[in-house]
Amino acid sequence: MQPCSGAPNSTLNSTAIWSYASVVTPTTSLDSHRKCRPKSSCVPNSTMSSPPQPEPRGRVFEIQRFSIHDGPGIRTTVFLQGCTLACLWCHNPEGGSSRPVLSFQPDKCVACGWCVSACPEQAHHLDVETGTHTLDRDRCRVCGACTEQCYSGALEVVGRDMGVGEVLQDVLADIPFYETSDGGMTLSGGEPLAQLDFAAALLQGARHHGLHTALETCGSVPLAHLERILPWVDLFLYDIKESAPERHREFTGGDGAPIIANLRYLHGTGAAIRLRLPLIPTMNDRPDHLDGVAELVHELPGLEGVEIMPYHRLGTSKMSRFGWPQGPEFETPDDAMVEGWITALGQRGVTVRNR
Ligand code: SF4
Ligand code: SF4
Repeated sequence: MQPCSGAPNSTLNSTAIWSYASVVTPTTSLDSHRKCRPKSSCVPNSTMSSPPQPEPRGRVFEIQRFSIHDGPGIRTTVFLQGCTLACLWCHNPEGGSSRPVLSFQPDKCVACGWCVSACPEQAHHLDVETGTHTLDRDRCRVCGACTEQCYSGALEVVGRDMGVGEVLQDVLADIPFYETSDGGMTLSGGEPLAQLDFAAALLQGARHHGLHTALETCGSVPLAHLERILPWVDLFLYDIKESAPERHREFTGGDGAPIIANLRYLHGTGAAIRLRLPLIPTMNDRPDHLDGVAELVHELPGLEGVEIMPYHRLGTSKMSRFGWPQGPEFETPDDAMVEGWITALGQRGVTVRNR
């Protein structure tokens, strides 16, 4: 496999420059993706005079292999911790935390008591007579000692610090699958650009090895963040959650206007963008929101398509694992409801793809 022989000029002096090849040496090649992109802005290695930088590190809460809903082909999706919004219907609440969190699932506990003796903070309490197990989260400092003793899988630390090379090692393990499916690596979260340096280094590293890269973003980031990673992203999966400004703030905690401004900027660069619409019954499946989506789609003809992300309750069930208060629950849409949304968008001239 031939690594990329150059790098875009714009990043030559950034902290993202370090040696990917020295950390990751894949054993298979990705001939179909062996392209250095974008060629017009490349310079040969010999001109890279920046001193070696330490490997960027960041916080990851999941690496999901064989993803088929996060961009084309078979992909590895890397979920980064930290988010810039707080959506009422969040599917990945653990991604909203910028720190590792202890997951405890009492239904898996077999009351062996190993965690009680392992915890230096006396955070676990086990009533041997009733088998009732309580966790005092105020005492927990997420050291992970109890998880190493829990063989039932009831305890788990979600979120860990990883180096770029370590993540890429996992991602590159599935090169044969990317090759046969035109897949690659997707960054998701949380909001992956909440860890800008880490996200940029991962994208750059994946590109260095010839992988197709996708970035799932809520768009609620400074424009400069998008400018920084733009050279390394083949496809943006761009969330549009709500059209009405006041409802956007109510549903997500953030302002929708900069998100639309950022989308217009990306569209103006010619970037490949798919819109993703999380649709939540009684919240944003209103006709006026669908009207707003249609307006946007007609304004931005270069968009690569629109996907619907129907609400599911996974996020709600996760909240209790982390000891967080339950958020609101919504109706889980059935196939007929989703078809209704697709039809409603179709009547507005919007074709929903990939669903
Ligand atoms: S170690 Fe795991 S299974 Fe044993 S008491 Fe603790 S949580 Fe339960
Ligand atoms: S993560 Fe550490 S501090 Fe927290 S409960 Fe487990 S052993 Fe105790």
